[in-house]
Amino acid sequence: MPNMSDIVSPDKRTPGIVAIDPVLFPILEKLYDRRLQRLNVLATKQEENGEYFRFLSHLVHAQKHILEHMPLDQPNRRAILGLFSHGLDSELLEDSLASITCWQNAYTTLLQQISAFLPSPIQQNLTELAADKPRLIRAATDLLWSQYQQVNAGAAVVLWAALSICWAQAVATQQEEAVTQPIGAAVCCPCCHAPPVGSLVLGGAREGLRYLQCSLCETRWHRVRAVCVDCGASDKIDHWTLDDAKSPIQIETCGDCKGYIKTFRLDYDPELEAMADDLGSFSLDNAIEENGFMRIGINPFSFPA
Ligand SMILES: [Zn+2]
Ligand SMILES: [Zn+2]
Repeated sequence: MPNMSDIVSPDKRTPGIVAIDPVLFPILEKLYDRRLQRLNVLATKQEENGEYFRFLSHLVHAQKHILEHMPLDQPNRRAILGLFSHGLDSELLEDSLASITCWQNAYTTLLQQISAFLPSPIQQNLTELAADKPRLIRAATDLLWSQYQQVNAGAAVVLWAALSICWAQAVATQQEEAVTQPIGAAVCCPCCHAPPVGSLVLGGAREGLRYLQCSLCETRWHRVRAVCVDCGASDKIDHWTLDDAKSPIQIETCGDCKGYIKTFRLDYDPELEAMADDLGSFSLDNAIEENGFMRIGINPFSFPA
């Protein structure tokens, strides 16, 4: 049976001992395949949101198309890695994004591939954005600065998908240079500085290890468990599920900073995919937010309003 996991196997040079990899770089083709598979499962299972899950599967298909037919060239890879080392707070971000063309082309290609599945007012809105380069670049800058409410919600999902396919290829192909920040206590991605989607507890050879997954470049980075990923406190950590304690989708809250992160227990259910299954479990978020907790991280399939 082929290995369906999108997570690289551990190095087993020392028999019986698995070294903890500080970061796991994305294997993009497999990652997109798994995401598509989960979106399709959820589209059938959660009929009330079926149409949106089906739309997202067209979007991920289009990302896969870009991966296969428009691979990132060396100048664009270098330019994206240059952004990582300057950090996202830099005032230069907007100028840098203007000079990096791959994500702008990716946005146009994604739009062409999905436009048949968009309601016409949204399609028109996104097409106008593609034609207005300064506004497109401003919108991308706002997204990377976490100013999500500045960008039209429909445009944000497609624009982020365009940035993501380029950023993810840059880290996957330039792994030795991609990590630009210390990893030990990072709440944001040590490569591209974007917030996490959530936290994964792995199974198999990495049984029980916790990694956060980047919402932008798809990298996973190791964080010890039972410690708040944001403030580092460990006294008031609680785990919540909608049903039983063995539920594969859980929420970890911190009573000290009032933050929470969604956790996907791949050791309980290896089929889970963070972005798709997060979207399929927002009722858990709603219940936790009613108790005064704030989400750590974002899901780029549904930006905070
Ligand atoms: Zn990242
Ligand atoms: Zn905390």
